[in-house]
Order: sequence, then structure tokens, then C-alpha cells
Amino acid sequence: MEQGQTGPSGCVRPYKRKSGDFVRCGSRVRSTCPSCAELYRGDWAAIGRSGVFDGRAERYRFYLLTLTAPSFGRVHRVPRSKGSRPKRCGCGALHELRDAGLRGVPLDPATYDYAGQVAWNRDASVLWDRSRRRIRDRWESVEFFLVREWQDRGVLHLHVLVRIDRSEAPDPRVLCQAARTAEAVSRVDGGVVGWGPQADAKAFRADGGGAKTIWYLSKALNYVMKDTAWAAMGGRGSNLAWAHLAALARAARGMRCCRECVPEECASRVHDRYGSRSHVVSASRRTRNRIGWSFTGLTRGLQRQLRAAWAEARAQAAPAAERAPAHGPQEGARLARVVLLRRIHVARAAVLP
Ligand SMILES: [Zn+2]
Ligand SMILES: [Zn+2]
Ligand SMILES: [Zn+2]
Repeated sequence: MEQGQTGPSGCVRPYKRKSGDFVRCGSRVRSTCPSCAELYRGDWAAIGRSGVFDGRAERYRFYLLTLTAPSFGRVHRVPRSKGSRPKRCGCGALHELRDAGLRGVPLDPATYDYAGQVAWNRDASVLWDRSRRRIRDRWESVEFFLVREWQDRGVLHLHVLVRIDRSEAPDPRVLCQAARTAEAVSRVDGGVVGWGPQADAKAFRADGGGAKTIWYLSKALNYVMKDTAWAAMGGRGSNLAWAHLAALARAARGMRCCRECVPEECASRVHDRYGSRSHVVSASRRTRNRIGWSFTGLTRGLQRQLRAAWAEARAQAAPAAERAPAHGPQEGARLARVVLLRRIHVARAAVLP
């Protein structure tokens, strides 16, 4: 714990630059660096929140859209909480909480489609792009905030906050159907990629259930920081779960990540992430014609800039204060940035569970 004191504000493994100063490791994995992971989650939570609460909420309708992958073989079903009624698993057993190590493990590893699953993870971003375009073709005002989460079986799963102008806002079922039925053609192997049958869209109002939805997303961001399916299992994995993920990892190492890829020689990290190439969280960006997800134009780049400016301001403030109070436009700009940064901190604090 003590080593945490050496880094910039709590980073446990800061890098030393040639200039001699330390910079954050920037990890988003909590077990690697709690401080940087928390910063990552907080930054994204602030961006997520800013697209719901920083605009004129009454003009929009919001949806929480969930999209899943298709089946690549049957897996054990284990309840998530004590209260939930146990359902009979495909293996014939009625699993209990203590069987959590079996969650997501194939009933029959010999016939499980590992190659298909890692290829799906690889192509999931192309598929989402298809769904996104389809939705935008129908509802022009749409903006997104997207969290990709790992399911126990080692496949991606999408939670999307969708914002549409009230004037053209559809029934949630129509939105769900439009997103779920999109298909893409893999750029790597030409195969058809589609979503699984489990999909859901719930509508909410920012002046109604919005805070609850943001809380839910912040929770999803917790999973995000665990980074891999293995870590997402919280180390409670059984030997069978471990064997399952090892088989997936092998499949991901053997697949082509792009058309030119020679798997044995390829250095792309896609091969180490069960095929996934996407950033875990993303939001639609501001362009000349679109407002983007965040009403205030908040991005991670901006957050980083503000943080750096704040750190610099603080470093300069100490000696300056001993002399005379500083004046001039530069000082004004610096203070404005400090104030803005403080607002971001407040926004972050407000959404963390
Ligand atoms: Zn760190
Ligand atoms: Zn079972
Ligand atoms: Zn490759």
C-alpha cells in the first residue's frame, strides 16, 4: 500500500519519464492499479452522465439497450443471487450459488464452437457499427454511450445508452428490433455476423429513472475494469472455467485478426483478448453536424488535459502564493480550468455507486 504514495495521486506503478517526472500507468484494471482504474471509471461515468443530465432532459427520450452474442454451445446456468429461483441446467442439475465456478462453462467442451466465439468477439465492433447505422438511418437525432462487458462464457455483451429526440422517439420494442436484427459480413473471413436472440430495450426519462440507469452503468463500468473474462469471474473460477478460458485463448491466438494476419507472427493484442479489438467504453463524438453524446462536449482527452492543467496549476500555486497574488488573462484561464475540473470531479462523485 505504501508504494502507492510515490505515484501521481495514488498510482501504484507510475512510469518515470526521461525528464524525471512520473506519469500515471493509466491501467483500467483494478487489480493492476486501483487508482488509475477508478479514474478511468469515473471519467467515463462523468461522460455518460453528461449525456443525460447536462441537456434539456424533457426534449429527449432515453433507452437502455442490451445486445448479446448468439450461442456457441450450451453452458451451465448458475443463479447470480441467493433469492433467484434455481432453473434446471442443461446438465440436469439444479445449481446453487456455490457452483458459481461452473457459470458460463460449456456442457460439452468437445463440441463447443471456440473458434466461432472468438471470431464473433473480433467482429462485434463491425456488427455494432451496422446496428448503429441502422438506428441512425431511422432516427436521425440518435446519440450513444456504449459499455462492452464480458459474459462468463468469455463473450462480449453490450449495454448501450441511447438518446433520441422526443419528436421521433420510437417504442422501445421497435428500437430493440432494429438494433438486434442487424447483420454484418466479417471483413476477415466473409462470414455473416449477427446478435443472439437475447436483447432488451427499456425506455426511461432523465427526470424519472435516469439516476438509476446511470447507477447501473457505473456498475457495468466496474466489470469493465476487470478487463478480461477471467478477471471478471472474480478469481472464483473452477478448473473447468479455467480450461474453458484457456481453450478460448488458444482459439484467439490461432485465428486471423485481419485479412493479412499470420497468427503465429502477429503481435496484435486482439489475440490476447479472446478476439476483442474494441475499446471497452465509447460514446458518440461531437461533429460539425451532431452534438455527440455529451451535451457539454466532454471527452477523455479533455478530461486528461484538464487534469494536467490542474496539476500544473497546483504545482505553480504554492510558490506563487508566498509572493503576490497573480494577475492577468493567463491566470484567469488557469482558474477557469480549475473550476471546470472541479465540476467534473463533482459530476464523477455524484454517479459512483
Ligand atoms: Zn496507475
Ligand atoms: Zn449444469
Ligand atoms: Zn493478428
